[in-house]
Amino acid sequence: MRIDILTTFTEMFPPVLGASILGRAAQKGILEFNLCDIRQYSENKHHNTDDYPFGGGAGMVMLAQPIYSCLDAVDPEHKARRILLSPRGRTLSPEVARELAKEEHLLFLCGHYEGIDERVSCAMDEELSIGDYVLTGGELAAMVAIDCIARFIPGVLGSSESAETESFSDGLLEYPQYTRPREFEGLTVPEPLLNGNHAHIVDWQMSESLYITLRRRPEMAQAYLKGRKFTRHEQKVVNAVLERIREEDEKAKRDSEPAEETT
Ligand code: SAM
Repeated sequence: MRIDILTTFTEMFPPVLGASILGRAAQKGILEFNLCDIRQYSENKHHNTDDYPFGGGAGMVMLAQPIYSCLDAVDPEHKARRILLSPRGRTLSPEVARELAKEEHLLFLCGHYEGIDERVSCAMDEELSIGDYVLTGGELAAMVAIDCIARFIPGVLGSSESAETESFSDGLLEYPQYTRPREFEGLTVPEPLLNGNHAHIVDWQMSESLYITLRRRPEMAQAYLKGRKFTRHEQKVVNAVLERIREEDEKAKRDSEPAEETT
Protein backbone atom coordinates (compact mmCIF):
# COMPACT_ATOMS: atom_id res chain seq x y z
CA MET A 1 0.00 0.00 0.00
CA ARG A 2 1.26 3.45 -0.84
CA ILE A 3 0.63 6.06 1.85
CA ASP A 4 1.12 9.76 1.08
CA ILE A 5 1.27 12.09 4.07
CA LEU A 6 0.78 15.82 3.51
CA THR A 7 2.08 17.81 6.46
CA THR A 8 4.02 20.91 7.47
CA PHE A 9 5.91 18.81 10.05
CA THR A 10 7.54 16.00 8.04
CA GLU A 11 10.22 15.57 10.72
CA MET A 12 7.67 14.05 13.10
CA PHE A 13 7.16 10.90 11.01
CA PRO A 14 10.43 9.00 10.38
CA PRO A 15 10.98 7.93 14.01
CA VAL A 16 7.53 6.32 14.07
CA LEU A 17 7.16 5.03 10.51
CA GLY A 18 10.72 3.69 10.43
CA ALA A 19 10.55 1.71 13.67
CA SER A 20 9.19 -1.64 14.79
CA ILE A 21 6.38 -3.28 12.81
CA LEU A 22 5.75 -0.32 10.47
CA GLY A 23 9.47 -0.02 9.70
CA ARG A 24 9.69 -3.74 8.98
CA ALA A 25 6.64 -3.57 6.67
CA ALA A 26 8.23 -0.66 4.79
CA GLN A 27 11.48 -2.60 4.42
CA LYS A 28 9.56 -5.58 3.04
CA GLY A 29 7.84 -3.26 0.55
CA ILE A 30 4.35 -3.93 1.93
CA LEU A 31 4.04 -0.26 2.90
CA GLU A 32 5.51 2.65 0.98
CA PHE A 33 5.50 5.99 2.82
CA ASN A 34 5.72 9.24 0.89
CA LEU A 35 6.18 12.33 3.08
CA CYS A 36 5.15 15.58 1.38
CA ASP A 37 6.08 18.95 2.85
CA ILE A 38 3.15 21.27 2.15
CA ARG A 39 5.43 24.30 2.74
CA GLN A 40 7.40 23.51 -0.42
CA TYR A 41 4.28 24.17 -2.49
CA SER A 42 3.50 27.59 -1.06
CA GLU A 43 3.53 30.31 -3.71
CA ASN A 44 3.85 32.92 -0.97
CA LYS A 45 7.29 34.55 -0.96
CA HIS A 46 7.87 33.57 2.70
CA HIS A 47 6.54 30.05 2.05
CA ASN A 48 3.73 30.66 4.52
CA THR A 49 1.17 27.92 4.87
CA ASP A 50 -1.34 29.73 7.09
CA ASP A 51 -3.10 33.07 7.51
CA TYR A 52 -5.57 34.86 9.79
CA PRO A 53 -9.17 33.62 9.71
CA PHE A 54 -11.87 35.65 7.97
CA GLY A 55 -14.34 36.79 10.59
CA GLY A 56 -11.66 36.96 13.26
CA GLY A 57 -11.07 34.53 16.07
CA ALA A 58 -8.08 32.90 17.66
CA GLY A 59 -5.40 31.02 15.76
CA MET A 60 -4.36 30.66 12.15
CA VAL A 61 -5.96 28.75 9.31
CA MET A 62 -4.01 26.67 6.80
CA LEU A 63 -4.09 28.12 3.28
CA ALA A 64 -5.85 26.23 0.49
CA GLN A 65 -3.27 27.04 -2.22
CA PRO A 66 -0.22 25.09 -0.92
CA ILE A 67 -2.44 22.10 -0.14
CA TYR A 68 -4.08 22.07 -3.57
CA SER A 69 -0.68 22.41 -5.28
CA CYS A 70 0.72 19.60 -3.12
CA LEU A 71 -2.26 17.36 -3.97
CA ASP A 72 -1.80 18.10 -7.68
CA ALA A 73 1.87 17.14 -7.49
CA VAL A 74 1.48 14.02 -5.38
CA ASP A 75 -1.81 12.57 -6.60
CA PRO A 76 -2.53 14.34 -9.92
CA GLU A 77 -5.17 11.89 -11.09
CA HIS A 78 -6.83 11.55 -7.69
CA LYS A 79 -6.10 7.84 -7.47
CA ALA A 80 -5.60 7.85 -3.71
CA ARG A 81 -8.35 7.68 -1.14
CA ARG A 82 -7.81 11.13 0.32
CA ILE A 83 -8.35 11.45 4.05
CA LEU A 84 -8.38 14.68 6.02
CA LEU A 85 -7.59 14.16 9.70
CA SER A 86 -10.19 16.11 11.64
CA PRO A 87 -12.07 15.91 14.95
CA ARG A 88 -15.25 16.32 12.84
CA GLY A 89 -14.61 13.10 10.90
CA ARG A 90 -15.85 9.53 11.13
CA THR A 91 -14.27 7.96 14.18
CA LEU A 92 -11.49 5.42 13.65
CA SER A 93 -12.53 1.92 14.72
CA PRO A 94 -11.46 -1.64 13.82
CA GLU A 95 -14.19 -1.70 11.14
CA VAL A 96 -12.98 1.56 9.58
CA ALA A 97 -9.35 0.37 9.74
CA ARG A 98 -10.23 -2.96 8.10
CA GLU A 99 -12.06 -1.11 5.33
CA LEU A 100 -9.17 1.32 4.69
CA ALA A 101 -6.65 -1.54 4.78
CA LYS A 102 -8.16 -2.84 1.52
CA GLU A 103 -7.12 0.31 -0.39
CA GLU A 104 -3.97 0.35 -2.53
CA HIS A 105 -3.26 4.03 -2.05
CA LEU A 106 -4.16 6.25 0.91
CA LEU A 107 -3.39 9.93 1.32
CA PHE A 108 -3.53 11.65 4.71
CA LEU A 109 -3.74 15.42 5.06
CA CYS A 110 -2.67 16.72 8.48
CA GLY A 111 -4.17 19.97 9.67
CA HIS A 112 -2.49 22.24 12.18
CA TYR A 113 -3.24 25.46 14.09
CA GLU A 114 -6.99 26.25 14.08
CA GLY A 115 -7.59 23.99 11.10
CA ILE A 116 -7.71 24.17 7.31
CA ASP A 117 -9.50 26.46 4.85
CA GLU A 118 -12.84 24.70 4.34
CA ARG A 119 -12.43 24.80 0.54
CA VAL A 120 -9.81 22.04 0.85
CA SER A 121 -12.62 19.63 1.79
CA CYS A 122 -13.79 19.66 -1.86
CA ALA A 123 -10.54 17.92 -2.84
CA MET A 124 -10.74 15.25 -0.13
CA ASP A 125 -12.78 12.05 0.00
CA GLU A 126 -13.51 11.94 3.71
CA GLU A 127 -12.63 13.17 7.18
CA LEU A 128 -11.29 10.85 9.86
CA SER A 129 -11.14 11.46 13.60
CA ILE A 130 -9.17 9.38 16.09
CA GLY A 131 -11.48 10.29 18.98
CA ASP A 132 -13.55 12.95 20.65
CA TYR A 133 -10.72 15.22 21.76
CA VAL A 134 -8.63 17.85 20.01
CA LEU A 135 -4.93 17.44 19.21
CA THR A 136 -2.62 20.29 18.25
CA GLY A 137 -2.16 18.80 14.78
CA GLY A 138 -3.16 15.94 12.51
CA GLU A 139 0.33 14.39 12.50
CA LEU A 140 -0.18 12.22 15.59
CA ALA A 141 -3.67 11.32 14.35
CA ALA A 142 -2.22 10.22 10.99
CA MET A 143 0.36 8.05 12.75
CA VAL A 144 -2.31 6.44 14.92
CA ALA A 145 -4.52 5.79 11.89
CA ILE A 146 -1.65 4.37 9.81
CA ASP A 147 -0.54 2.08 12.65
CA CYS A 148 -4.08 0.84 13.22
CA ILE A 149 -4.82 0.31 9.49
CA ALA A 150 -1.46 -1.38 8.81
CA ARG A 151 -2.26 -4.17 11.29
CA PHE A 152 -5.02 -5.34 8.94
CA ILE A 153 -2.81 -5.45 5.84
CA PRO A 154 -1.72 -9.03 5.09
CA GLY A 155 1.97 -9.56 5.87
CA VAL A 156 2.41 -6.54 8.12
CA LEU A 157 2.09 -8.53 11.33
CA GLY A 158 4.39 -11.54 11.67
CA SER A 159 2.86 -15.00 11.80
CA SER A 160 3.07 -14.97 15.61
CA GLU A 161 1.14 -11.68 15.80
CA SER A 162 -2.49 -11.36 14.87
CA ALA A 163 -4.98 -8.53 14.66
CA GLU A 164 -7.80 -11.02 15.05
CA THR A 165 -7.27 -12.02 18.69
CA GLU A 166 -6.79 -8.51 20.04
CA SER A 167 -9.20 -6.41 22.06
CA PHE A 168 -12.34 -5.44 20.05
CA SER A 169 -11.69 -8.04 17.30
CA ASP A 170 -14.53 -10.29 18.49
CA GLY A 171 -16.49 -7.71 20.46
CA LEU A 172 -14.64 -8.20 23.76
CA LEU A 173 -11.59 -6.74 25.44
CA GLU A 174 -8.59 -9.02 25.56
CA TYR A 175 -7.85 -11.46 28.39
CA PRO A 176 -4.72 -10.90 30.55
CA GLN A 177 -1.37 -12.07 29.15
CA TYR A 178 1.59 -13.47 31.11
CA THR A 179 5.13 -14.51 30.29
CA ARG A 180 8.03 -15.98 32.29
CA PRO A 181 8.72 -16.33 35.17
CA ARG A 182 5.80 -18.32 36.61
CA GLU A 183 6.15 -16.40 39.84
CA PHE A 184 7.23 -12.76 40.14
CA GLU A 185 7.51 -11.17 43.57
CA GLY A 186 4.87 -13.52 44.95
CA LEU A 187 2.48 -12.98 42.00
CA THR A 188 1.73 -16.18 40.14
CA VAL A 189 0.45 -16.97 36.64
CA PRO A 190 -3.14 -18.38 36.67
CA GLU A 191 -3.12 -22.17 36.83
CA PRO A 192 -5.18 -22.84 33.63
CA LEU A 193 -2.40 -21.24 31.54
CA LEU A 194 0.21 -23.58 32.98
CA ASN A 195 -1.40 -26.99 32.84
CA GLY A 196 -1.06 -27.44 29.05
CA ASN A 197 -4.73 -28.33 28.53
CA HIS A 198 -5.76 -26.33 25.44
CA ALA A 199 -9.50 -26.56 26.16
CA HIS A 200 -8.97 -25.18 29.69
CA ILE A 201 -6.84 -22.36 28.31
CA VAL A 202 -9.52 -21.39 25.77
CA ASP A 203 -12.23 -21.44 28.47
CA TRP A 204 -10.10 -19.34 30.81
CA GLN A 205 -9.34 -16.79 28.09
CA MET A 206 -12.99 -16.47 27.10
CA SER A 207 -14.10 -16.19 30.68
CA GLU A 208 -11.48 -13.51 31.54
CA SER A 209 -12.25 -11.55 28.36
CA LEU A 210 -15.93 -11.50 29.19
CA TYR A 211 -15.32 -10.67 32.85
CA ILE A 212 -13.00 -7.74 32.03
CA THR A 213 -15.38 -6.42 29.37
CA LEU A 214 -18.40 -6.66 31.69
CA ARG A 215 -16.50 -4.74 34.34
CA ARG A 216 -14.88 -2.08 32.14
CA ARG A 217 -17.17 -1.75 29.09
CA PRO A 218 -20.57 -3.16 30.13
CA GLU A 219 -22.33 -1.80 27.01
CA MET A 220 -19.83 -3.66 24.81
CA ALA A 221 -20.25 -6.87 26.81
CA GLN A 222 -24.06 -6.66 26.61
CA ALA A 223 -23.88 -6.22 22.81
CA TYR A 224 -21.59 -9.26 22.62
CA LEU A 225 -23.93 -11.39 24.77
CA LYS A 226 -27.00 -10.34 22.75
CA GLY A 227 -25.47 -10.72 19.31
CA ARG A 228 -23.88 -14.14 19.66
CA LYS A 229 -25.06 -17.74 19.54
CA PHE A 230 -23.15 -19.81 22.11
CA THR A 231 -22.58 -23.54 22.13
CA ARG A 232 -23.82 -25.32 25.27
CA HIS A 233 -20.30 -25.40 26.62
CA GLU A 234 -19.71 -21.69 25.91
CA GLN A 235 -23.02 -20.84 27.56
CA LYS A 236 -21.77 -22.62 30.70
CA VAL A 237 -18.64 -20.46 30.66
CA VAL A 238 -20.76 -17.32 30.20
CA ASN A 239 -23.11 -18.31 33.04
CA ALA A 240 -20.16 -18.91 35.36
CA VAL A 241 -18.83 -15.41 34.63
CA LEU A 242 -22.25 -13.82 35.21
CA GLU A 243 -22.50 -15.73 38.50
CA ARG A 244 -19.02 -14.54 39.52
CA ILE A 245 -20.04 -10.93 38.81
CA ARG A 246 -23.31 -11.34 40.72
CA GLU A 247 -21.56 -12.81 43.77
CA GLU A 248 -18.89 -10.09 43.75
CA ASP A 249 -21.50 -7.34 43.46
CA GLU A 250 -23.60 -8.81 46.29
CA LYS A 251 -20.53 -9.06 48.52
CA ALA A 252 -19.52 -5.47 47.70
CA LYS A 253 -23.05 -4.32 48.55
CA ARG A 254 -23.03 -6.24 51.86
CA ASP A 255 -19.59 -4.83 52.71
CA SER A 256 -20.73 -1.26 52.02
CA GLU A 257 -23.84 -1.52 54.22
CA PRO A 258 -23.37 -0.18 57.77
CA ALA A 259 -22.91 -3.01 60.26
CA GLU A 260 -26.02 -3.64 62.40
CA GLU A 261 -25.58 -2.45 65.93
CA THR A 262 -25.48 -5.24 68.49
CA THR A 263 -26.72 -4.55 72.01
N1 SAM B 1 -10.44 24.01 15.27
C1 SAM B 1 -10.59 22.61 15.09
C2 SAM B 1 -11.87 22.12 15.75
O1 SAM B 1 -12.29 22.72 16.74
O2 SAM B 1 -12.43 21.12 15.27
C3 SAM B 1 -9.40 21.85 15.70
C4 SAM B 1 -8.15 22.09 14.99
S1 SAM B 1 -6.82 21.13 15.66
C5 SAM B 1 -6.16 22.22 16.86
C6 SAM B 1 -5.63 21.12 14.40
C7 SAM B 1 -5.64 19.88 13.53
O3 SAM B 1 -5.37 18.74 14.32
C8 SAM B 1 -6.92 19.56 12.80
O4 SAM B 1 -7.04 20.28 11.61
C9 SAM B 1 -6.78 18.07 12.53
O5 SAM B 1 -6.03 17.81 11.37
C10 SAM B 1 -5.98 17.59 13.75
N2 SAM B 1 -6.79 16.95 14.79
C11 SAM B 1 -7.06 17.44 16.02
N3 SAM B 1 -7.80 16.60 16.73
C12 SAM B 1 -8.01 15.53 15.94
C13 SAM B 1 -8.72 14.31 16.12
N4 SAM B 1 -9.37 14.02 17.24
N5 SAM B 1 -8.72 13.42 15.10
C14 SAM B 1 -8.08 13.68 13.94
N6 SAM B 1 -7.39 14.84 13.72
C15 SAM B 1 -7.36 15.74 14.70
